[in-house]
Amino acid sequence: MSPRGWAVLTLAGLGLAVLVAALVLIPWSRPPAPRADQLAALRELPADQVERARQFRAALRPGGWAALGVGLLVALALGLTPLGSRLIELAGRLFGDHWAAQAVLGGLAVVLVADLVTLPFSAWRHAVLTRYGLATNGWGGWAVDLLKSYAVSAVIGAVALLGFYTVVRLAPRWWWAFGAAGAATLVVLLSFVLPVLVEPVFNRFAPMEPGPLRTQLMDLAARDGVPVRDVLVADASRRTRAVNAYVSGFGPTRRVVVYDNLLREATPAEVTAVVAHELGHAKDRDVPTGTLTGALGAAAAVVALYLIGSWPPLLRLAGVDSVAQPRAFGLLLALVTVAGLVFAPVQALMSRRVEARADAHALALTDDPAAFESMQRRLSAINLSDPDPPRWEYLYSASHPSTVERIAAARAYARKAGP
Ligand SMILES: [Zn+2]
Repeated sequence: MSPRGWAVLTLAGLGLAVLVAALVLIPWSRPPAPRADQLAALRELPADQVERARQFRAALRPGGWAALGVGLLVALALGLTPLGSRLIELAGRLFGDHWAAQAVLGGLAVVLVADLVTLPFSAWRHAVLTRYGLATNGWGGWAVDLLKSYAVSAVIGAVALLGFYTVVRLAPRWWWAFGAAGAATLVVLLSFVLPVLVEPVFNRFAPMEPGPLRTQLMDLAARDGVPVRDVLVADASRRTRAVNAYVSGFGPTRRVVVYDNLLREATPAEVTAVVAHELGHAKDRDVPTGTLTGALGAAAAVVALYLIGSWPPLLRLAGVDSVAQPRAFGLLLALVTVAGLVFAPVQALMSRRVEARADAHALALTDDPAAFESMQRRLSAINLSDPDPPRWEYLYSASHPSTVERIAAARAYARKAGP
C-alpha cells in the first residue's frame, strides 16, 4: 500500500479514536438545570447588574468577531495566494535561502503577520476592559503581556517548525506519520510543562497562607480523595479584577490555582465551592482527558493536512509544489485556522459538559448549594458575564454553562437533596 493509502487508513483510525475518546470520556448527559429555574434566577438578579454585563459584552462583541473574521481573511490570503510563500522566501533570503531559515523565520513571520493584523482588536478589547474597570494593568502592562506571549509562542513555534521540517527532510514519504506522532507528543509535553514553565512567565504563584480557610480546603481535598500538595494563589490582581480558579498540569505538575482576587472578594464558603469545582476537574482527570483528545486531534490534523495539502488546486493557489515545503507553511496555517473555527463549537460543547460535571461534583462534595449559588452570582457580578447570553454566541464559544444554568443546577440539586 502507498504512503497515501496508509495515511487514509491512519486518519480513519485516529478519527475513530477521537470519537471513541470523546464518547467515553466526555459526560454527555448533564445534571438537570431546568429552564424555569434559570428564568427565576435571572429575574432575581439585580436588573442594573444584568444590564451592565450585557452592555459590556455588547461592547466587546464587534471587536471579537472582527478579529475572527480578519484573522481568517488574512490566513486565507497568506495560504491560498502566493503571498505566504513569498514572505517565507523573503525571510529565508536573509540566511542564503537555507531551508531551516525558511522553516523557522519564514514560519514565524507568517504567524506574526497573522497575529499583528488582529492586534488592533486586542487593543480595543483592552480599552473596553479598562473602561469597565476590569483591567487593572494599564497599557504598559498590556504591552508587556503581549510581548511575553509573542516570545513564548515564538519559542514553542520555532521548536515545532524546526522539528517538523527536519522530519519532512529525513522522511520525505512518511513525514506525516512521524509528524503526527511528534504533534501528539508536543501536545502532551506542553500540557505537562505549562504550569511550571509557561504560567510563571505571566503570574507569580504563592502557596496559600496558613489559616482556617487553607486547612478547610486541604481537608476538603483529602475527604474527596484528591491529594493536593497545596492550593496556589496567583497574583491575578496585577492584570484584572476578575475572579477565577483553575487546575492545570497532570501527574507531578498538577496544581489547583485560585486568583488572589477570589480570596479578597468571596466568602470562605464561596471559595470552598470554587475549589470543590476544581477538585472535580482533578478527580475526573479532566486535564489528562483534554490532553489525550487534544493529542489525538493534533495527530489527526497532521495526517489530514498531508492528504488535503496534496490536492493540486490548493498547491497552485499557494504557488508551491508540495505541502511539505517550508514555503507552503502559509497554506498549512490557513487550513488550521479554518479547522479551528469549524471545530470551536464542538470544543465549547465538550468543555461545557465537563464544567457541568465539575459543578455537580462541587455540589455533592460541599452539599452547600446556597454557597454555590451565591458564588455564581458573585462571579457574574465581578466578571461582568451575561448571566443568560445570546444562544448563538453561547453555542459557538461558551466554555462554561451560563450563570443561570449553574444556579438552576444548584437549585435542582437542593430539591433532590431535600431540606
Ligand atoms: Zn471548571
